[in-house]
Amino acid sequence: MRLLALGLLILVWADPAHPAPAHVHGEARLEMVIDGDSLSVRLDSPLDGLLGFERRPRTDPERQAVRAMRARLETPDRLFLLPAGAACVAMPPRIASPVFADGAVSGHLDLSAEYHWRCARPAALRTLETRLFAEFPRLGMITIQFIGPGGQRSGRLTPRQAAFAW
Ligand SMILES: [Zn+2]
Repeated sequence: MRLLALGLLILVWADPAHPAPAHVHGEARLEMVIDGDSLSVRLDSPLDGLLGFERRPRTDPERQAVRAMRARLETPDRLFLLPAGAACVAMPPRIASPVFADGAVSGHLDLSAEYHWRCARPAALRTLETRLFAEFPRLGMITIQFIGPGGQRSGRLTPRQAAFAW
């Protein structure tokens, strides 16, 4: 199962032929993988849903907004609530977006964030609740693709239903 999940993860994340998620403002996507004691969550979102604009910041308030967005995305324990019994410890996330890079950008922009936890009791890992809607009110819907010990599932979260169980 460990190798299978890892293989699926690499297929989903790295295959250039894998179609990019549709860019719909207000919608985001989570890909979750539980593999042994490891939980991985990847968030993909149009930048609009997290920041309110999709270009380089031009003013001090916009630069501040980019910094604040990044700071919020770098707090996995605030964004994702896991069962305390699973005793999961977050590792530093990786956050990537053209808005952080140098050089010209044009058109719609996205952001991806990769989160990892190590869980002392992964069997207790049965739910994930996200506070992304509270932190980023422009988000209205998040689709979930899940791969875990019980197989694959998909789901959909909204501000009123922000928890996913498996
Ligand atoms: Zn856009």
